[in-house]
Amino acid sequence: MSAGPGRVGVGPAAAYGEGAAAVALVATTAEVLAHPELDEGLLAPWERRRLAGIRVPTRRDDVLAARLLLRLCASRATGLSPRDVGPAQRCPGCGRDGHGRPYLPDHPGVGVSYSHADGLAAAAVGPGPVGIDVEPLTRRPGPVSVLRRLLPHDEVDAAGAEPDPGPALLRLWVRREALFKAGRDDVRLAEWTDRRRAAVVALAGADGARRALSPAPSPSPAQAPPSGR
Ligand SMILES: [Zn+2]
Repeated sequence: MSAGPGRVGVGPAAAYGEGAAAVALVATTAEVLAHPELDEGLLAPWERRRLAGIRVPTRRDDVLAARLLLRLCASRATGLSPRDVGPAQRCPGCGRDGHGRPYLPDHPGVGVSYSHADGLAAAAVGPGPVGIDVEPLTRRPGPVSVLRRLLPHDEVDAAGAEPDPGPALLRLWVRREALFKAGRDDVRLAEWTDRRRAAVVALAGADGARRALSPAPSPSPAQAPPSGR
């Protein structure tokens, strides 16, 4: 499942014409931080200020990785360099900038989304609203009584009826998160397990979805997947 950036397959010319698919990248935080095209200097000053406010180093790295991966993903889609992509965020709740839903000011029709979890990052770009969520394979959302308040009852009950409900509830959780981030329910939904990274990923996107591709170049010892994540 490892593939270099060339396999992403979204060129600048064909980026988001008719039938274009959403593209997702999933990686470990370590993979992103070791990627030759990416470094912290790509972030905008407002993003660096927000990073500076994160006290837990591993969480800071996860947030940094997700923001860098979003740039790489958007770069693949638009043909711009990761430095020139310039994503912004605006909050649908309070209307202020700097948090909330990400977007590309120079590409108003293009949807972007990112996600981070313990040691994992994911990003998606698509020809319309997209939402992505990544969670560690070992995460167990719950309990069911809480999930029933947050998610559709019938889906929670179906997942909860399985012999080991944990994995099914996790898949349900990432699907709902991806739809929530896309901001609508009437989009196609793909969900998969990335065994190499021990991650469960869901991608909600308007025009279909493509599997995650590693953003890392050909594997090297420095980019071996960390164990236990
Ligand atoms: Zn807000």
